[in-house]
Amino acid sequence: MRPIPKILFIVLLSVLWSCEKPKTNDLVLINGKIWTGVEEQPWAEWISIKKGLITGTGSGNPPAAGEEIDLKGQLTLPGFNDSHIHFASAGHLLLNINLLDVNTEDKFIEAVEATAKRLPPGSWITRGDWGAYEAWSMGSEGDSRNAQTFEPSRDMIDSVTMEHPVLVTRYDRKMGLANELALSYLNIESENGILTGNDLKDALDQIPDKSFEQRLAEAKRALAEIRRFGVTTVQDMSPLDQMDIYQYLRDRDSLTCRINFSPSRLSDYQLMIERGWVIDWDHPGGPKPTGDEWFVFGTLKTHIDGIMGARTARFFEPYSDNSPEMVDWRGGWREFSGDLDVFKSMIISADSAGIQMRIHAIGDEANSILLDILDKMDEVNGPLDRRFRLVHAQVIHEHDMARFRGRNIIAEVQPYHVTDDMRWMEERIGYERCKGAYAFRTLQEAGSVLSFGSDWPGTNASYYPISPIYGLYAAVTRQTLQGKPESGWFPEQRIELEDAIKAYTWGSSFSAFEESRKGTLETGKFADITVLDTDLFETSPDEWLDAEVSYTIVDGKVVYSRASE
Ligand SMILES: [Zn+2]
Repeated sequence: MRPIPKILFIVLLSVLWSCEKPKTNDLVLINGKIWTGVEEQPWAEWISIKKGLITGTGSGNPPAAGEEIDLKGQLTLPGFNDSHIHFASAGHLLLNINLLDVNTEDKFIEAVEATAKRLPPGSWITRGDWGAYEAWSMGSEGDSRNAQTFEPSRDMIDSVTMEHPVLVTRYDRKMGLANELALSYLNIESENGILTGNDLKDALDQIPDKSFEQRLAEAKRALAEIRRFGVTTVQDMSPLDQMDIYQYLRDRDSLTCRINFSPSRLSDYQLMIERGWVIDWDHPGGPKPTGDEWFVFGTLKTHIDGIMGARTARFFEPYSDNSPEMVDWRGGWREFSGDLDVFKSMIISADSAGIQMRIHAIGDEANSILLDILDKMDEVNGPLDRRFRLVHAQVIHEHDMARFRGRNIIAEVQPYHVTDDMRWMEERIGYERCKGAYAFRTLQEAGSVLSFGSDWPGTNASYYPISPIYGLYAAVTRQTLQGKPESGWFPEQRIELEDAIKAYTWGSSFSAFEESRKGTLETGKFADITVLDTDLFETSPDEWLDAEVSYTIVDGKVVYSRASE
């Protein structure tokens, strides 16, 4: 072999040298007031990032990087991980129609007309859920006495919806309104357009499926909202076909938040198994999520009871505001939890197969039964690190609080519910039971892990915004957005700001078995970061409500910058 000429050696050396030069990071954020969420080093001034991962945090001189962002002292947090959203419904509400707080003719016409302008001709205008805030207005603390009922008719909207079939529903979904175009498509006659009972059911069944383009447009609107509010992971419970949209966006580099996907139907879960998306069945020590950096699968969601807004949540004792004919009514079960023995054995066998369960439970009896099921899981399948998720954990009976201790039970709660639901909670279940409602401090002290989310966009009876700031505000103040009541609703359940942020970052990541990659700002974790223009630690909660996100960073890339909007 011929010896390598000296000049080549020098070239080679200088190439190697330049590779090793300090510019090893892609991005460094400097001059921040960075709350890392790491106990040993909670605060830092800079974060360095390479290939989407955090390579270091610290104070003093930052390392060199290809790009530098001066945070100018702004509060910087691990990216918010929203542990509970309904993405597809949110997209629909944003692009299609949101009538939740509409209960007057003017507002109704205005909302329908605006939607018709937004959607291409021929698209259906559907759902809307008008009148949800009729009895208790948005932001009120109670008192339903001045409620005015509103019933729309098609003559209000026919002239502004000549090119759009309309079939919108009232919040309880027991009444619908169709416009002229929809009625002729559906082949139904109705003078005023109001449909109820089987007519409504048949009409809803006939609405054609949305096109892929429309669903994509809705998803883009929803993603823009998610970025604007600094959310870097969403844990979504949409129907399975939502994954096609996510995949499409990801293939085009336009997915701007990470998705933790949790089907609500067993059939969807089975399909996911067939597609090879689900669980490492042989994983020792309990269930673990599967997926990659952008999509994680693994949790199965189901329900045991209904919601308080519709009086379908299940309590030990009757509702306090039952009508005289229904005086003993204490709520019901869901279709597949009607036979509780079958329900219990289904959940326990899912657990033995290594599936992490998240189960919706609102009423105190519903929550109590889930704790019984958890006891049974321990007994039958052993005390695994299963991170059983009590979804909403909304009203807990005082006798059940002690059962949370030492079991890593996840209270998957949505603090903004307090702000919204206090409108009617006390009327509905009475003062005593309200002590165990949204009892975040008691749950935390009892040893459960708080996992915060928004429940965006809400139910058909309420609107819950995605803003994590609203969630933090609600958890810390337990007040309406108008600052009422003065000392907070059941103020003994308020929690500290730092705990609230932790629940919205680390807690929600832990609840999904993702805390090794998300939820704190430390070396090796995903560079998912949120920068706020308001220092929550130095300002009062009413000022937080005006806080805005300055930057949302996902995978080391700025996906939202307020300055460039
Ligand atoms: Zn929900």
